[in-house]
Amino acid sequence: QWIFLNGEFVTKENAKISVYDHGFLYGDGVFEGIRVYSGNVFRLEEHIDRLYNSAKSILLDIPYKKDEMIGHVLETVRRNGYQDAYIRLVVSRGVGDLGLDPYKCKTPQIVIIVEPLALFPKHLYETGIEVVTVATRRNRSDVLSPKVKSLNYLNNVLVKIEAHLANVSEALILNDQGYVAEGSGDNVFIIKNGVIYTPPGYVGALEGITRQAIMEIAVDLGYTVKEEPFTRHDVYVADEVFLTGTAAEVISVIKVDGRTIGDGTPGPHTKRLLEEFRRRVVVEGVK
Ligand code: PLP
Repeated sequence: QWIFLNGEFVTKENAKISVYDHGFLYGDGVFEGIRVYSGNVFRLEEHIDRLYNSAKSILLDIPYKKDEMIGHVLETVRRNGYQDAYIRLVVSRGVGDLGLDPYKCKTPQIVIIVEPLALFPKHLYETGIEVVTVATRRNRSDVLSPKVKSLNYLNNVLVKIEAHLANVSEALILNDQGYVAEGSGDNVFIIKNGVIYTPPGYVGALEGITRQAIMEIAVDLGYTVKEEPFTRHDVYVADEVFLTGTAAEVISVIKVDGRTIGDGTPGPHTKRLLEEFRRRVVVEGVK
């Protein structure tokens, strides 16, 4: 396995970062998770745009132009030779001293890791998953907006811990007003009377690239899609609930806080969207 580390390809064993890196010391950096399907990188440009927007928001200057970064990602994929894989692209502020001051960090560190990944076991896509809502809250529109995919994922980690303590694999996070925002690393959708709803970004959700793809697919299939805030109650009484994310793809949710959704099996609309998503990811993308 070859890892891209600041312009060079090194083996996994040699891919090492200084303990003075501010990504490690302070979570100061940004990242992306990207998928490769049948040798095609899915929506790479959108991921790169989001990475650069996240970096701009925290005044982090990425030392490559976007097309150079795209070239490095594609080269890392080629070198590793996987047909289906997950890419982790990380840009940290770089090596500084123990103080917080990011201006002491001279060069950002760029890491690209490609490896096979399955977030959920295959059978869960057939059965659907159970989720809970958690006490951890999502910021709505602070300076560090949830739209910035930063290395500060402690909030999301706490959500995962709460899910684990409740013996389920994922959880839904609400914002401080009680509106449902997203999962720990995925966006959430509900379907009621054939209409598809997902929370708008300002509720406190990352504007997911899979979310965007699913909204496009849904519109193409003739559904009405609405970006509207909704509450836990709306989720409990929805006909179908599902999550979307680069790693999760589209996964049906069949129980929320003990309430069975629909008849407790993945619904027909969710299945149709997943099927169409799986068909398109193979034909879309760049080599
Ligand atoms: N929400 C959060 C907090 C995430 O980390 C992710 C993963 O990237 C998503 C949603 C889903 O976004 P995407 O579909 O771009 O992977």
